Amino acid sequence: MGFLDGWRFCPRCGSPVEPAEGRAECGACGYVVYANPAPAACALCTDDAGRIMLTRRAWEPYAGMWDLPGGFLHEDEHPLDGLRRELAEETGLEVEPTEWFGAFMKPYGDGGTRWVLNLVWRARVAGGEERAADDVSEVRWFSRAELPPLAEIAMAEPVGLWLREREG
Ligand SMILES: [Zn+2]
Repeated sequence: MGFLDGWRFCPRCGSPVEPAEGRAECGACGYVVYANPAPAACALCTDDAGRIMLTRRAWEPYAGMWDLPGGFLHEDEHPLDGLRRELAEETGLEVEPTEWFGAFMKPYGDGGTRWVLNLVWRARVAGGEERAADDVSEVRWFSRAELPPLAEIAMAEPVGLWLREREG
């Protein structure tokens, strides 16, 4: 599975291309495409009660599953700006990133051809009014004991790491 799978033509000039080893180079116009992952910024947002905020995905892929709030970056957007923007769009909350949590790789959807590079920060709510919107149908806070099974969470790896951290 890869971004360039099935590419047969240059997207700029329409000449035939043969992707190999993670890149496609057009012999006619010189356009080169690399099979990079798509970067996304997500918030592992917790409160004073030790709960984590999850959002329910409204659309495919993973429609109906829980997820960490966040999303894909705009082309010229710093990941921390993207994180703040996505959280405001999806949850109505102003969040402030507090600490780097980690980078997580995941294919986007079943049979998808794109890998996602998820950049995850710990975060805290700084303001705003909570409401589910955009591509999210529900916002909910879970204690470790209340957390849904990881199989029901789209981006389960960072949530699993958080779950195994000691409280306090
Ligand atoms: Zn071309």
